[in-house]
Amino acid sequence: MMPTIDRRGRPVRDLRISVTDRCNFRCVYCMPKTVFGRDYPFLPRQDLLTYEEIVRLARLFAAQGVGKIRLTGGEPLLRRDIERLIEQLAAIPGLELTLTTNGSLLAARARSLRDAGLHRVTVSLDGLDDAVFKRMNDADYPVSRVLVGIEAAAAVGLAPVKVNMVVKRGANDGEILPMARHFRGSGHILRFIEYMDAGNANAWRAAEVIPAADVVRRIDAEFPLEAIDPNYPGEVAERWRYRDGGGEIGVIASVTQAFCSSCTRVRLSTDGRVYTCLFASEGHDLRRQLRGGADDAQLTAAIADIWRQREDRYSELRGAGLPLAKKIEMSYIGG
Ligand code: SAM
Repeated sequence: MMPTIDRRGRPVRDLRISVTDRCNFRCVYCMPKTVFGRDYPFLPRQDLLTYEEIVRLARLFAAQGVGKIRLTGGEPLLRRDIERLIEQLAAIPGLELTLTTNGSLLAARARSLRDAGLHRVTVSLDGLDDAVFKRMNDADYPVSRVLVGIEAAAAVGLAPVKVNMVVKRGANDGEILPMARHFRGSGHILRFIEYMDAGNANAWRAAEVIPAADVVRRIDAEFPLEAIDPNYPGEVAERWRYRDGGGEIGVIASVTQAFCSSCTRVRLSTDGRVYTCLFASEGHDLRRQLRGGADDAQLTAAIADIWRQREDRYSELRGAGLPLAKKIEMSYIGG
């Protein structure tokens, strides 16, 4: 089947679904307490897409060429009975099914997630030192419990587990080498993510970004690395292998080396809006059509139309220093 192509010739391949805009962490670069405090107006329950609605849309996206779905949020394991959604998504033929989590509830849920049909997990972890990690998550959450979650996931076969570390200068860059040492040879794939100007809440400054090339240089000085080929065209992580066979790491350089030209991602927000860029300011409301009685042909036409009109390339424009509109928050659109 030919996937639907956008105005820049990019096919739609990866669908990220935010299943909740809530999270039990308050990571300073994502949902800082100053903005996401006690009174923050999270979406009311009736605004959330139901599992039936999500599955219906996922099938239609798959028919347009999507081959991979990632459940995210917010913290996806906070959504009740997420296994029920996974079971239904797993029944769609030919889909790779993954989930991104902060790991806080993973140890208890790894087996049921796997049994429901999940293939892999990505776990976020921003350091190994408790004081540093707690300053990042701002929820007093210790490292040890995330590590237990990672091991539990690998033990049930949600593997290889990818471990994502967002690097913020002055906050956790001292953890780059300890993280590399810890995960080297573990079978898990550690990936370093450049701190991005997602949303508006985090008061991002370019000076706080550590370029991925610097991360590679620091690790290479202790453990020599060599570049390896991407697993597939359009893979966003640049892959590096330890020369001594200690496994691989990845770096995601969305700020210093924009990958818009090969971006195949589409996002479905918690309340059923489609966003064709992580840095978009406007989404396309599919929930209104879903709940207004649209049939599959109408929804399919709407989805295809959204993708065909797509011309986003935010990260490339950011690099060119152009002024940009207010963006939506990552917890809502799905990280
Ligand atoms: N709660 C889940 C988690 O913690 O992984 C899923 C949602 S979270 C928004 C997804 C990923 O986005 C996490 O790895 C998080 O660290 C990353 N993230 C959030 N804000 C970011 C930013 N400003 N720059 C880079 N990565 C960010």
